[in-house]
Amino acid sequence: MDFPFHHDVIDQLKADGLFRSLRRVEPDPLGRSGRLIIDGRPAILLASNDYLGLAGHPRVKEAAVAAIQRYGFGGGAARLISGNALPHAALEERIARFKRAEAALVFSTGYMANLGLLSCIIPSDGLLITDRLCHASLMDGCRASGRRFRVFDHADPNHLDRLLAKRPANQPALVVTDGVFSMDGDIAPLPALVEIARRRGAAVFVDDAHATGVIGKEGRGTVEHFGLEPGSVIQMGTLGKALGCFGAYVAGSRVLIDYLINKAKTFIYTTALPPAVTAAALAAFDVIEKEPEILERLRHNRNHYAEGIKSLGFDTLQSETPIIPIMIGDSRSALAFSERLLEAGIFAPAIRPPTVPKGTARIRTTIMATHSRDDLDYVIETLGKVGRSMGIV
Ligand SMILES: *Cc1c(COP(=O)(O)O)cnc(C)c1O
Repeated sequence: MDFPFHHDVIDQLKADGLFRSLRRVEPDPLGRSGRLIIDGRPAILLASNDYLGLAGHPRVKEAAVAAIQRYGFGGGAARLISGNALPHAALEERIARFKRAEAALVFSTGYMANLGLLSCIIPSDGLLITDRLCHASLMDGCRASGRRFRVFDHADPNHLDRLLAKRPANQPALVVTDGVFSMDGDIAPLPALVEIARRRGAAVFVDDAHATGVIGKEGRGTVEHFGLEPGSVIQMGTLGKALGCFGAYVAGSRVLIDYLINKAKTFIYTTALPPAVTAAALAAFDVIEKEPEILERLRHNRNHYAEGIKSLGFDTLQSETPIIPIMIGDSRSALAFSERLLEAGIFAPAIRPPTVPKGTARIRTTIMATHSRDDLDYVIETLGKVGRSMGIV
């Protein structure tokens, strides 16, 4: 059963080069985390958020197995009913410590954390203001909240300042930004946003999905990267990216966390994460703290690769992180570029509207600590060949 317009929408997407379909992935036969088998063919993986390779780290896997043995698999109930196992509480304490916040709360996914938090964090007469390039979960959270919702130009503190100045006196306001922007790989100008918000009587919420474990000297995220006071922002992040696990968290004051436990519907009305998932995440934080050389390797790989492709003449926007876009522009060309890479054994998908603004289709590459230098050099060489043959560089 479907509706006639579903057929029309799909036909239009195909005509516009915007149709998406799922690819089947299998792990690399040798267990290398920077590689995979995609639709049956082996490839170097440039499309994972598992930046540190922790999804396959022995300590993370062992923690998950041990927790399954002890707790079984499913969470059994919502956290507020009977689903609040020991690993959940231990993980929240650990996240609060890692983020240097008073307290933390784990959600099932980042999408749900953002939806739940944004829907209840300010009073109904309040204002939410987001960066134009914020992640879809933040935009959806703002819309779902029913609160007034404004957008400031990407990474433009002056525009934010003007919007905050225009609001009615004493209107509660929350400034919302990604810490690291997921499609451009640039870092939000957080100190300027925090300063303006402070001056204008607003609060700041930073989504560190791609920053936690990745930026800041010890991988603690944007607050550490800029040396900000942790109490000056509300922090959110996911456990499914650099932590190599699944789930998400909000870190902030004890009062904020108690408020969310009572009011965030996406926390209240959903099954607790399996204890094995939170136990694995706890082990992943251990690895980040005890094996800083993994983050060092990520940075070396990232810089080596970024220098290589920039010297070929590719436009990588303002990327400063392991997310490195290669700007193409037109959706069909981006798709063709990505197909050429796959033929050469490199998986780097074309990112097209509506995920990115119209006319800015790109190849999005993400670098991992577990990529070998040989694989990265092969990727750089191949990007050069394909880019030249398509007239992009
Ligand atoms: C991935 C991502 C999310 C969603 O997190 P999930 O745990 O995957 O649902 C939220 N915000 C940003 C910026 C992201 O990149």
